[in-house]
Amino acid sequence: MMHSDELSRAEIGVIGGSGFYSFLDDMTEVEVDTPYGRPSDSLLLGEAAGRKVAFLPRHGRDHHLPPHRINYRANLWALASVGVRQIVGPCAVGGLRAEFGPGTLLVPDQLMDRTRSRAQSYYDGEERADGQRSNVVHVTFADPYCPVGRRTAVRAARAAGWAAVDGGTMVVVEGPRFSTRAESLWHAAQGWSVVGMTGHPEAVLARELGLCYTSLALVTDLDAGTDTGAGVAHSEVLEVFAANIGRMRDVVLDMVRALPLGTYRDCLCTRALGGQDPGIAPPGTTL
Ligand SMILES: [Zn+2]
Repeated sequence: MMHSDELSRAEIGVIGGSGFYSFLDDMTEVEVDTPYGRPSDSLLLGEAAGRKVAFLPRHGRDHHLPPHRINYRANLWALASVGVRQIVGPCAVGGLRAEFGPGTLLVPDQLMDRTRSRAQSYYDGEERADGQRSNVVHVTFADPYCPVGRRTAVRAARAAGWAAVDGGTMVVVEGPRFSTRAESLWHAAQGWSVVGMTGHPEAVLARELGLCYTSLALVTDLDAGTDTGAGVAHSEVLEVFAANIGRMRDVVLDMVRALPLGTYRDCLCTRALGGQDPGIAPPGTTL
């Protein structure tokens, strides 16, 4: 377990998705345990643009965790416990419209939860491993992503010569299988933009801890209902991610430089609990 003197070792967290397993060259590995268990991997701490960054590969650095077995609560708690207040979450998604082909970067402003089995709250009234019990808290989630982070992401992408799609709905499915054609056609018919497997509960857990969270959805394939081919293959996903990893890293680095920190961070995310008492202290704070 980290001690309070180890707080503020990082300010911005980057959760790397499929194909994004390392970030900066010179990083220090730190093992962090949490009241919710172990995160996906050790945290890697380093500096970029004069700011302190923590990197965490979402599936583990050897990609041993499928989306439904990721300990999202531990991941977000671990990042917050080293001081992180801004999170950038790149992820691989399928495009639900023909114009969102492989290589499209979409910065979603909405999400649809179609997951089934994941713990998606810290404030569920259950007793934790350390004997503490939270109160029941309901956070506002009408706008699931940080508006400032989204603007910063779209700007960073444009500066890198990558015209990001500004807004759209990411539907998050349980996985680990890809969608059937019927599911995919239904998702598209709802007007949703992209489909992924990890965007939820990552975003809501960040919100519960009062962190800013911005999703960078990289389209690696056209989903089954949009594509006339054989459907999605994982090798295709990794191939497209690999082809785009350079500019994805540039966008994330530019965001690290530009995201507001400290008292400059004044968005709805910081007021997520709306005065409700969670009963347990979020990491990096005292009740
Ligand atoms: Zn925010």
